[in-house]
Amino acid sequence: MVPDRPATASGRAAPGVVTGDAAGRSVPAGDPAGDAATGSPAVRVTPLIDAHGHVQADPFAHDLAAVLAAAADAGVVRLLVPGWDLDSSRAAVALARGAAGGAGAPEASPVPIDAAVGIHPHVAAGVDEPTWEEVRAMAGDPLVLAIGETGLDYDRLFSPREAQLANLRRHLALGRATGKPVILHCRSAAGRRDAQDDLLAELREAGVGDGDWVRALQGRPPAILHSFSGPVDYGEAGLELGLVVSFSGLVFRRGEQPSAEVVRLVPSGRLLVETDAPYLSPPGAPRRRNEPAWVRVTAAWVAERRGEDPVLVGERLVAAYDATFHGPAGVTPVTGGSPATGGMCT
Ligand SMILES: [Zn+2]
Repeated sequence: MVPDRPATASGRAAPGVVTGDAAGRSVPAGDPAGDAATGSPAVRVTPLIDAHGHVQADPFAHDLAAVLAAAADAGVVRLLVPGWDLDSSRAAVALARGAAGGAGAPEASPVPIDAAVGIHPHVAAGVDEPTWEEVRAMAGDPLVLAIGETGLDYDRLFSPREAQLANLRRHLALGRATGKPVILHCRSAAGRRDAQDDLLAELREAGVGDGDWVRALQGRPPAILHSFSGPVDYGEAGLELGLVVSFSGLVFRRGEQPSAEVVRLVPSGRLLVETDAPYLSPPGAPRRRNEPAWVRVTAAWVAERRGEDPVLVGERLVAAYDATFHGPAGVTPVTGGSPATGGMCT
């Protein structure tokens, strides 16, 4: 998810997606860090993954190398960086290319970085066709392992529902065409579940979980319910569709109590953790900026809630990450033979 109070480097707060600080880069819109009422990370999970961290966002512009070093020190061995608009998707690909040591790489990373490209529901209404075509083209890059983040946000409604739904539908089609899982953000206003219900209806309408999808994804799951938020039966319905469920610091907030039950229902092969950095700081993390290293708090919560050995949890998280984004063989498939590869991003 991308919350509603942007954590810009300057600490400036503004509604919605802020485009352009002094450096001309945008940041995802953000929420307050929330109520950190629970969480006792005495449990140490290792190794760790962060399946969703926006480290291309402005708050990391001045010290990203240190942030990645801290993540590596904390045991993070996988990091997926999703885009939320065109520029942030480009930046995600550039980071992945750098981490892979590609030509013109901005910087080597002590943590392997994977990219996802997509348009967040907050900005769905503002995307023109050339912009979408660029996102679609980038989706074919072998460094791009997922499509997103996209989804539905009826809590803040920065884009009208119809624009969000249209945006979601073409991301689902792109996921199927490229054979890459779709990263889904879904939030309803407090006490409501209309976004979750609409999301499930859209997934069913798109045929997620059908044989064609399964074949297109070559064994990978069709989508990820990122930063899980919603009632227990919504989580169950997502699992029935074959989705992966990813938990963030959101689980520590008031109103998110169902997550504590859902986390026990998810098969270990389809369970991920994430930070949604720079947002959703878990207990103990600075509220002004969450970082991938703090995924350890949510991972510890997972181990505690499931009553599982922390080392086993860590190993399973890595295996689930690799199976979700790299496929059963644990390697990124060559995309040249897939039906909709749009070429490399430059
Ligand atoms: Zn996000």
